[in-house]
Amino acid sequence: MLSELDAMLDKLCATEPAALADGQSIEALHRALARLEAVATRATAAFDASREWEADGAASSSSWLAATCHLPQPAARRCVRLGRGLRHLPVAEQAWVDGDIGAAQVSALAGARTPSAEEAMARDEEMLVGFARRLRFSAFSRAVAYWRHYADPDGTEKEAGDQREGRRLHMSQGFNGTWLGDFVLDPIAGAIVHKALSRIEDELFEADWAEARSRLGDAAGVADLARTPAQRRADSLAEMARRAGVAPADGRRPEPLFTVLVGYETLAGRICELANGTVVSPDSLVEWLDQAWVERVVFDGASRVIDVGVASRLFTGATRRAVEVRDRQCFHQYCELPAERCQIDHVQPWAAGGPTVAVNGRPACAFHNRNRHRRT
Ligand SMILES: [Zn+2]
Repeated sequence: MLSELDAMLDKLCATEPAALADGQSIEALHRALARLEAVATRATAAFDASREWEADGAASSSSWLAATCHLPQPAARRCVRLGRGLRHLPVAEQAWVDGDIGAAQVSALAGARTPSAEEAMARDEEMLVGFARRLRFSAFSRAVAYWRHYADPDGTEKEAGDQREGRRLHMSQGFNGTWLGDFVLDPIAGAIVHKALSRIEDELFEADWAEARSRLGDAAGVADLARTPAQRRADSLAEMARRAGVAPADGRRPEPLFTVLVGYETLAGRICELANGTVVSPDSLVEWLDQAWVERVVFDGASRVIDVGVASRLFTGATRRAVEVRDRQCFHQYCELPAERCQIDHVQPWAAGGPTVAVNGRPACAFHNRNRHRRT
């Protein structure tokens, strides 16, 4: 049977890439890839159970796999583990074999099936696989994270506690005077640092871009920027430290840290996530509450935020937040930039009489905002 597959693959390999370079073919190829990976993973699990690998003197099926198929040890272990997990996920297995979902979705489901969530998974697998089929991966991951909060609240709170416990930052000076470091932050502290850093990074990116333009005109491309992204990040960190030094002690915190959505749960289920979309456990918010800025957004329908309607050309303040909170990311189908890093765009343009109210707003990243105006 595998020789037939080989013959098919030979044909495909002999095909010019250009002949397959259309959307439909790409989608079909990736679906075939997923199906093949499902079959290979399933077979690996059966091989693992057969203990046939013992005959070769291997200590485990994954070390056999790593040696025979030249896989990195962690990849081999992942494959065996996923194959084992598949036995308890019959709906996901079928969807994977059909090519409707891929290894990433199946891994997420297998990871969510912790011992205390086994029963809930058996009950909800159909629903979760439905999400996996329909949603793009980031939205699916978020759905699984929320599901885990319901199915295994103790487990997720414990995990959040472990994440917080595991926080660390090391910085040390090397022999030649340079500084080295690494760190691990829990989701909330990490989001705070990342946001501050990204904002400065965006400023430096604009500055680099302006400099490249002034040097090379319109021909300037990303490769002409004076700094690499890593260098820009390093400079952003130093700049953040400099700014911390001049920030007044009684300075106003720049924006709300937490948003409380009133009347939204009934429409969309429980929401407990950061503006960047990371789902966090309710307990992990508690310690922030005495120092946090909390804002309240009141919904009275799936996409209707009770507006603060101001005759203003720009979406600012509460109106801007209403759109951010409702839509979460850039409006464009192929884009996932978080709304907090987007501009808020008028659906019906301001110039055409479109009002600056939440119902007429949508997040648009700089790229998709520009594109839209080019077309219209
Ligand atoms: Zn976009």
